[in-house]
Amino acid sequence: MRREAQGTGARSGEQGAEGKAGGKKLKRQSLKSYKPVNPTNPMNSTNPRNQYPLTSIQYPPNVECPISLSSPIQKKIAWARSHCESFGKALLGDQEIAGLLDNLKEAVAASRREMAQTGIVEICRRCDREEGGSCCGAGIENRYDACLLLINCLLGVHLPEERRQSDSCFFSVENGCLLMARHIICINYLCKNVTDQVDPCRIATVREKEGEEVNALFVLHERIKTVLKQWT
Ligand code: SF4
Ligand code: SF4
Repeated sequence: MRREAQGTGARSGEQGAEGKAGGKKLKRQSLKSYKPVNPTNPMNSTNPRNQYPLTSIQYPPNVECPISLSSPIQKKIAWARSHCESFGKALLGDQEIAGLLDNLKEAVAASRREMAQTGIVEICRRCDREEGGSCCGAGIENRYDACLLLINCLLGVHLPEERRQSDSCFFSVENGCLLMARHIICINYLCKNVTDQVDPCRIATVREKEGEEVNALFVLHERIKTVLKQWT
């Protein structure tokens, strides 16, 4: 399941949101067709997340791009691992990057804490384990770019060698999502099952925290791209 990393159970499959419970199929909106909403104040036009799609890395023309968003996920993972091996120590030694990684960790923790307190984590756990719902379907991993995977490596996440379940996202493991730095669509998605059960005011608070998480990730992502551009 999507909402919590490592802790409540992997989702049952993409068709997304189309899982099975006791032979009965449940239909949830697929993450694949989901368009993220602005989790922070929509009036805040200075929010860079509003202008920057995390789905693509824009490499400058003078930098050789070894990989693209459309590359197979295994290739992106290999790129992230090799760059972590070659540049990880130096990247972590960059004071700005080290600070931004700390910011991201704090933002992720705060966002997940808020989701747990609102009961979203429990709703998703039940959806995944008891109702056969889940929305972490196969193919969502393709939205991840290599730099986002590199950030996960820098955070100590061990990226998988293979998909655990054919109809599930590549990053879905038994206890949930194994990533710490996640795509905005994974951070942001709340299905109707959740929005019907949780007080809108509580959801607004979750959205605020999600906004902070996405912003922290955006700034870090930009910094790493800039530094790698200088080094490669
Ligand atoms: S409750 Fe909704 S958001 Fe949570 S895992 Fe199920 S389908 Fe996904
Ligand atoms: S990366 Fe995959 S497993 Fe993790 S939240 Fe997104 S869809 Fe779910």
